[in-house]
Amino acid sequence: MRYFPAFLDLQSAPTLIVGGGEIAARKLVLLSQAGASVTVVSPRASAGISGRAKEGGLRWLARRFEPADVAGMRIVIAATGDRDVNTAVARAAREAGIPVNVVDDAALSTFIVPAIVERSPLVIAISSGGVAPMLATRVRDLIENLLDESWGRLALFAERWRARIRAGIADLAARRRFYDWLLDGPAAALVRAGREGEADRILGERMTAVSPPTGSVTLVGAGPGDPELLTLRALHALQAADVILVDRLVSPQVLTRARRDAEVIDVGKTPGGHGARQERINRMLVAEARRGRRVVRLKGGDPFVFGRGGEELEYLQRHGIAFEVVPGVTAALACAAYAGIPLTHRDHAQGLQFVTAHCRESIDAIDWTGLARAGQTLAFYMGIAELDAIRDRLTTAGLSPATPVALVENGTCENQRVVVTELADLPGAAHRHSVGSPSMLFVGDVAAFATKLHWFGAAPVVESSPQVSTPASRAA
Ligand code: SAH
Repeated sequence: MRYFPAFLDLQSAPTLIVGGGEIAARKLVLLSQAGASVTVVSPRASAGISGRAKEGGLRWLARRFEPADVAGMRIVIAATGDRDVNTAVARAAREAGIPVNVVDDAALSTFIVPAIVERSPLVIAISSGGVAPMLATRVRDLIENLLDESWGRLALFAERWRARIRAGIADLAARRRFYDWLLDGPAAALVRAGREGEADRILGERMTAVSPPTGSVTLVGAGPGDPELLTLRALHALQAADVILVDRLVSPQVLTRARRDAEVIDVGKTPGGHGARQERINRMLVAEARRGRRVVRLKGGDPFVFGRGGEELEYLQRHGIAFEVVPGVTAALACAAYAGIPLTHRDHAQGLQFVTAHCRESIDAIDWTGLARAGQTLAFYMGIAELDAIRDRLTTAGLSPATPVALVENGTCENQRVVVTELADLPGAAHRHSVGSPSMLFVGDVAAFATKLHWFGAAPVVESSPQVSTPASRAA
């Protein structure tokens, strides 16, 4: 580490800015926000600076820099754009033992100014040690996105309660748990939603409650595989988790974004039949939450789309466990996007249906006549074992055997494969190319767009070259 990071208390401190342009004005704003008493030395000054000087917000000496100007200053910033002047400022400050920063010149500086993310009173400073300012800016942007404006409110809220919490909860471990609850639980959510009064109330209740804190469960959609498709909220939940219960379909890349010391439990491999497995997962969720842990239940795609998310929440509710839900990008949307299939299109599809063809019994419960209606796109989940049945039922219900279909296997992942053919050939094409699970099946005119709008991964395999029919060609 080349530089020692620190935050300076500059309340009422005499500070010097040499220079009167835009950059100097920006430094002035920051120093003023920090409560410094600023002197600007520059023959000319921008309107912002001269205006503030007139209002009495700073002292402006409208002349050239003289070495004696640094006397008594706590810090000095040179922002003149003139290397000779900057060098003179740096020398004078160094000789007087005063920290000096020359804008964009680490060699002349004795301190550097970090990129900051300000969520006052929370301030995050980022520095690449002057080596790669662009990188620092990039990191700042990432953090900007990660921490929205509400973090400042939350910090003020925590500050307001700090003394009372310290007095009320003597045990350090208990206090830490309380803060975990405060920052990740319902009180924080209320503060973020601008409902501080309610947050105060539940915090007060919590302080007086004798029972140990209960955790909560956040049901999180992990998206289809590509971790870049996680929502920011999903990322926050993953980074706050004590324990994460994951399904088989969640990609390992997504888990690399989770908090490093979170315990990860793969419930996709839990032994037992489907029902037994689900019952065990439900019980684990409740048990982990009752231990006071922050539990993330991570599911592929969206938790409410063929993901049994609703059933798990009903169970939690029956057992008095608080929960939240974070939506995810469901496989139909993600696979269509990454395969170049517009799910609706003014000329081809006015509607979209999500269908599951999971098992024999449910297949006859489906309204095939409704699905076979023209002008819509069908997105089948878990259909790969039932392709014969899907083709037969749809054609019997009146859908043309020439309707384009696309299979998207491992959508959004590096090994994504897309096979395009027509409905009559669906089981045959899947068999010839050994298309396996997980795969989405798209049925409808728009499926043919994969042949021309593909942009991600390997080019699609096109079997019976279905045409994208335009209104003109259809009329012909
Ligand atoms: N809740 C999930 C769906 C769970 S059902 C969601 O919203 O996406 C599991 C089915 O989703 C799989 O059988 C497959 O049809 C589909 N699926 C999930 N991830 C997929 C992926 N990366 N590529 C293709 N299909 C996927």
